[in-house]
Amino acid sequence: MRFGIVNRMASLGRAKRPKLSSKDKSYFDSYCDISIHEEMLGDAERTNAYKNAIFQHKEAIQGKVVLDVGAGTGILSCFCGQAGAAKVYAVEASAMAEQAKKIVNSNNLQDCVQVIHGVMEEVILPEKVDVIVSEWMGYCLLYESMLLSVIYARDKWLKPGGILLPDSATLYLSPICDDEIMVDKVHFWNDMEDTYGVDMSSIIPFARESLSKEVMVKSLGAENILAHEQVVKNFDLYAITKANLSSVKYSFLFRCFGHADLQGFAVWFDVNFCTNKKFLADDEKKRDLNPCDSNTHVKKKSVLLSTSPYLPETHWKQAVLYLKKEMQVVQDSKIHGSIELSPSKDNPRFLSVNLSTKIDDYPEVSKHYSMGYDLEKSAIE
Ligand code: SAH
Repeated sequence: MRFGIVNRMASLGRAKRPKLSSKDKSYFDSYCDISIHEEMLGDAERTNAYKNAIFQHKEAIQGKVVLDVGAGTGILSCFCGQAGAAKVYAVEASAMAEQAKKIVNSNNLQDCVQVIHGVMEEVILPEKVDVIVSEWMGYCLLYESMLLSVIYARDKWLKPGGILLPDSATLYLSPICDDEIMVDKVHFWNDMEDTYGVDMSSIIPFARESLSKEVMVKSLGAENILAHEQVVKNFDLYAITKANLSSVKYSFLFRCFGHADLQGFAVWFDVNFCTNKKFLADDEKKRDLNPCDSNTHVKKKSVLLSTSPYLPETHWKQAVLYLKKEMQVVQDSKIHGSIELSPSKDNPRFLSVNLSTKIDDYPEVSKHYSMGYDLEKSAIE
């Protein structure tokens, strides 16, 4: 994805004409744009992770009923059809559903995959499902709040013992330095005198401030990371509730690798497609082993989709929170602080982040970041 940053009918399997709020309307309208789908399908790390996960869960899918929450162009539904699903309900709220229907037909999957143009929360399916697949992750994992629609679908439509693909997610945090952005966005203004003969350096504090207002989506590498990452939160998608997502808080203490300028923090995530105990044969359950690492049979079924800066880039890149002013750290400097992520009060699809940090002798700094507000402003203008 994605969105923004760049951006009971009596008959079965049908949707009501969606009664969308203007916020949801602009959200779903953004998914009518082909460029978002081009970006997602062009992200081979993402799409192949789903393809591998679906085919590695063939036994759980063959002859079974699948629900694809937010089908987009229908790619995941087609994978499930190819993996032998008896029926796939491909629910998509945006007009992209019409393209998905054509794609399903041209792959001769029309008897298996039923595209339903409707909002998940309003769709009435003819039956409960064995498997839910969904690619719901936004920037910084939680942007877009689409996980709420998966939770809704799980509670309403998943049979007891049914499986979720993916079934867990983990959010990570690490302190970073990023000299490149300082050159591109801050020192850039120093160069104006040489380029045009006008000294524009007085704008630098404003440029620096602008950098630290919003959560930025940027690709980082191992060289930017100043300390071992920490887990902000593990989400078990079988257990998570809407209430768990209203605020995700974490207190951290990092020890730095070495001398550097701390310029901010990076947030990234991974999702895991790991066969749940519910899906294991009874004799395997009795062994009561962790299904992810117990044996090769089960191990084979685990696929990880990671957006780590140590791994090949995905279209999610990393979400970066730049500080207003850099702070120098040395080896073993302690960075204390806390982070809280929550859906924005004005638009729950947007993200609000509060970060406080304290290093050595520097005073504590606290900062609020937003993700998505610019989009709303530009929609109003
Ligand atoms: N599954 C596709 C698209 C993923 S993007 C793929 O992997 O390529 C997420 C899609 O979910 C978007 O097309 C968006 O319009 C749709 N979506 C988000 N929330 C939804 C909801 N509540 N009901 C139906 N569709 C939804």
